[in-house]
Amino acid sequence: MQIERAPASAAAKARPRVGFVSLGCPKNLVDSEVMMGLLDRAGAEITPNAESADILVVNTCSFIDKAKQESVDAILEMARLKTAGSARKLIVAGCLVERYRDEIQKNIPEVDAVVGTGELESILAAAGLETQPTAQSASPFNILGSSAAAHVPAEVRPGVESRSGTHNASSRPEGDRRATQGRFSRSEWDGATAQMPQYLYDHTTPRLRTTRSASAYIKIAEGCDHPCTFCVIPNLRGQFRSRRFESVIAEAEMLVAEGVREITLIGQDTTCYGEDLGLKDGLAQLLDRLARIEGLTWLRFLYAYPNRITGKLLETIAKHDNICKYLDVPLQHASAPVLKTMKRGGGADIFLKTIEKVRAAVPNIALRTSFIVGFPGETDADFEALCDFVADAKFDWLGVFSYSDEEGSRAYDLEKKVPKRVIEQRRRALMKLQKGLSRQSKRELVGRTYDVLVEGESAETPLLWEGRTQFHAPEIDGTVYLNDFGPFESLTPGRFYRCEVTEAHDYDLVARVLHEVPTGAAPEPEPAGVLL
Ligand code: SF4
Repeated sequence: MQIERAPASAAAKARPRVGFVSLGCPKNLVDSEVMMGLLDRAGAEITPNAESADILVVNTCSFIDKAKQESVDAILEMARLKTAGSARKLIVAGCLVERYRDEIQKNIPEVDAVVGTGELESILAAAGLETQPTAQSASPFNILGSSAAAHVPAEVRPGVESRSGTHNASSRPEGDRRATQGRFSRSEWDGATAQMPQYLYDHTTPRLRTTRSASAYIKIAEGCDHPCTFCVIPNLRGQFRSRRFESVIAEAEMLVAEGVREITLIGQDTTCYGEDLGLKDGLAQLLDRLARIEGLTWLRFLYAYPNRITGKLLETIAKHDNICKYLDVPLQHASAPVLKTMKRGGGADIFLKTIEKVRAAVPNIALRTSFIVGFPGETDADFEALCDFVADAKFDWLGVFSYSDEEGSRAYDLEKKVPKRVIEQRRRALMKLQKGLSRQSKRELVGRTYDVLVEGESAETPLLWEGRTQFHAPEIDGTVYLNDFGPFESLTPGRFYRCEVTEAHDYDLVARVLHEVPTGAAPEPEPAGVLL
């Protein structure tokens, strides 16, 4: 990606260098990319070198204890660099700010400013850069030139849509009801502002993509209205809100024109997409429209809420070759009493029926889920029910989280806490069970051929390259290692190759390249953003 800039001037030479650490999930990564875009447009230079940065930013995660600790460690490391190096400012952004706004600055005096998840635009003031009015002429998408701009439908050009980065004030009745029930209240959190985040970027917001090869995320919704008792994400991210349909299409068209070939739609719950905009089956409609974008090779979404997987959604996934046959549906547990206390509902029998429906509608679909073990009150029998369900359901990918007791969640006040030692034993036992199931299912893939998106040389050894099939979401699932390039001297990251699986390990595959899969004359997509 070539960024055209004004001729060098004294002001340009004085551009502050900003180093960015981004922690947590892809949703947080998109926030980092938006903040980098805003800083870049305001004249800052984004640097991968912390030692030479004038400003250091840590975009934090605060989902569970482990994530909070990782965030604090990263802040302390940057604080040390600031003291020892050339940085004159340290800014902390993200979920940790929503949770501990005052305490961060009180306890870590090196921190100069904080930026919550609902105030991404204030990164400019925090960095000492002036806020610039949003205009298409200033968007990094403009670097695509007139052909990409031509993809933007007239009805979503700036001036027609609501102010960039500000969400239209619509909501879901479920969310409004939960709000009156106190679901989003932060009154018990010291230092948190009462005002819930409302921000949501749009296609006119500058954004510097950091993801490797031909892959990009698009955040289609923010916040969550569900009542899960273990989860503080709604308190951190606010009520559910969707981006406008046309804005998502416009962003996807611009990314594809830039060379992106795989788009992953993200949100806490993408299956609620559009309900606040009055759309029925909004995600299915959105996928159906996006799948028609010429040049888009793979389209996927994360995450599905189990009771919102409609027939229409499955029909849409099955209908389009370029919609990945992949579904990530976090089920959290399979024992009905535990799910009831989690305020999620469902149980093993209902979930098995859902899985059957999904597999019947979309044959060979890859299913991913995640579970929490050690939720308050979880008995040995509940855990056994979960293991039996996992053995029956045979997921392609599975993640297991140890329950984390989060102050401010409803589960925090529950009795019958499970000892940490038992939680750890259960986590390990469930992972061991899944490892055996995964090994068995991966072995069945030997000899089959798949399209593989090549991502580049393996971090482990230059003798191997890495890639993914449509059944592997970026940065989440196993890896396809390529040890035989077939007719090629070398491979090109960001391109697709037909490959034959030659070996299977517990989670990863080894494959040999057969031939390249043409996906149109894509320019080499270079990420414009960089992280520390
Ligand atoms: S659906 Fe996910 S993000 Fe929303 S409250 Fe439940 S666990 Fe949290």
